Amino acid sequence: MDPVDALTEIAFLLERERANAFTAKAFRRAAAAVGSAPADARTDAARLARLPGVGDTTARVIREALAGDVPGYLAELREHAGVAPRASSLRGALRGDLHAHSDWSDGTTSIDSMADAAAALGHEYLALTDHSPRLRVARGLSADRLEEQLEVVAGVHREGFTLLTGIEVDILDDGALDQRDDLLDRLDVVVASAHSTLRMERRPMTRRLVAAASNPRVDVLGHVTGRLVEGARGTRPPSVFDPEPVFAACAASGVAVEINSRPERQDPPDDLIRLALDAGCLFSIDSDAHAPGQLSLLDHGAARAEALGVPADRIITTWPLDRLRAHLERTHLHHM
Ligand SMILES: [Zn+2]
Ligand SMILES: [Zn+2]
Repeated sequence: MDPVDALTEIAFLLERERANAFTAKAFRRAAAAVGSAPADARTDAARLARLPGVGDTTARVIREALAGDVPGYLAELREHAGVAPRASSLRGALRGDLHAHSDWSDGTTSIDSMADAAAALGHEYLALTDHSPRLRVARGLSADRLEEQLEVVAGVHREGFTLLTGIEVDILDDGALDQRDDLLDRLDVVVASAHSTLRMERRPMTRRLVAAASNPRVDVLGHVTGRLVEGARGTRPPSVFDPEPVFAACAASGVAVEINSRPERQDPPDDLIRLALDAGCLFSIDSDAHAPGQLSLLDHGAARAEALGVPADRIITTWPLDRLRAHLERTHLHHM
């Protein structure tokens, strides 16, 4: 087995499990070191073990791979991955993903590696949606850095794949968005999410979410309840709000309700997905990936949506890019 493939697959699987980000990064670093080693060193386990970026664990993986085995570390992870959600036919209908982060905010890898991974997964498009300025813990992008990022994204080209510009913009306590309007207008995709003051009273929380869902600059309402159901960050109950007016606003303005695929979020809960379905809402099944291996978390969101009977055509991420773009532009035209 090729050691670079083994190291890279381990990084992917660790990311997908949302394991410690530093561990996944160590495997990525080792893969990069081996990948750029001189050709005559590529089959020499002892030489590879001495490369900067290769440690004890990664050296063992390299040695086992070169010996022709599936490294033990990888075999174990693959076994875990076998507990993945049942394959859904809806997953096959998904063409892209409108919510993902890079190391410009709190993702762990570069824009390029996210684009590579999305293209390798067969996505036709991925929206890069790093955080907005007020989310300092996640190194939210200032207006200047976002403008800089737009230039970088414009330079990303992959055959048969489009990296869309975007943002996951914070919904402030009063329902306003945490970025300049003129900048939001330049983005392909605006995902609006609440990340702070999630314990607000029902009425102001409802007003806050209705304001975001009615904002013509918003395309997707991200992880609407903010709940956490498992994982390293512990659990968090859903925010309290009246879902009917929120989903009515989404339906009226063509804002897609995000089905956030992260296993620790599973947001919205089933009952709210059913309500949004009845309200006539569109949906977007997103990974909210913070690392390349997490792009495949879409499997979880697709399995949930299928189990709840969400029709493929109501999910904008099943749409071809042309149709998606027309929809995104139509919602933006309201205020021009
Ligand atoms: Zn978020
Ligand atoms: Zn996010």
